Amino acid sequence: MNTFDVLIIGGGAAGMSTALVLGSAKNKPFASNKTIGIIIHQKTSALASGIFNNVLGIKPGTTGKEILDEGKKHLAETYPHVFQIEKEKVIKIESKAGSFMITTNKNNYQAKIIIVAVGPSNLFNIEGLNQYVEPHQKLPAAKERIQLKNNDHKVSEGIYVVGVLAGWRSQFSIACGSGASVATDILTEWNNGNPTMVHDAIE
Ligand SMILES: Cc1cc2nc3c(=O)[nH]c(=O)nc-3n(C[C@H](O)[C@H](O)[C@H](O)COP(=O)(O)OP(=O)(O)OC[C@H]3O[C@@H](n4cnc5c(N)ncnc54)[C@H](O)[C@@H]3O)c2cc1C
Repeated sequence: MNTFDVLIIGGGAAGMSTALVLGSAKNKPFASNKTIGIIIHQKTSALASGIFNNVLGIKPGTTGKEILDEGKKHLAETYPHVFQIEKEKVIKIESKAGSFMITTNKNNYQAKIIIVAVGPSNLFNIEGLNQYVEPHQKLPAAKERIQLKNNDHKVSEGIYVVGVLAGWRSQFSIACGSGASVATDILTEWNNGNPTMVHDAIE
């Protein structure tokens, strides 16, 4: 598949959380025909070197590597309609007649909405997004981290940023919440502006 309604770029805490919430709306009429993809590059995730003792719902001692592996499996098994694109890195975004062309090191994709979840590294270099880069406002200046200019996660029409790159401090739950928040913004948009959340309840 090469054309998406929404394409998430980055498969760390924020990107996978966005994908899970978007995927969970599959039975809603306004979302059932939407195509959702995630470029699930995980090579440079901050999770990779962490061990997690302070996250609700995650067993203390769980490694970030386990969260990355389990997250991919969770998404694939629970919401298999969310298309996972492995082993590709985004290098360029172009706006073309109301949608975006996303170029990776291997392929091209088209999407109506893109969600950028690539973390705050100052090595950020995605052509087409570099003009939104600014110094991170909530991390120590000495670390030289960056964020994308945004207003409540919206960078510009059709472009959202989530996770630490959105200007949040680096904590797992904050990054996940940021992704979940944007997912519900997009579901609300698909649902004609009616405030939307997805909850499963015990029968
Ligand atoms: C050593 C360490 C220990 C930590 N311990 C804790 C802790 O105990 N508790 C806690 O709450 N938080 C902890 N954190 C912080 C937590 O890991 C981060 O806050 C969280 O991972 C941020 O999520 P994110 O999605 O913004 O970024 P990331 O998880 O870093 O995800 C970014 C993703 O984007 C991908 N990517 C990058 N460039 C591209 C590209 N061009 N194209 C496509 N994909 C790309 C990367 O491979 C990565 O998977 C720790 C972090 C570190 C480094």
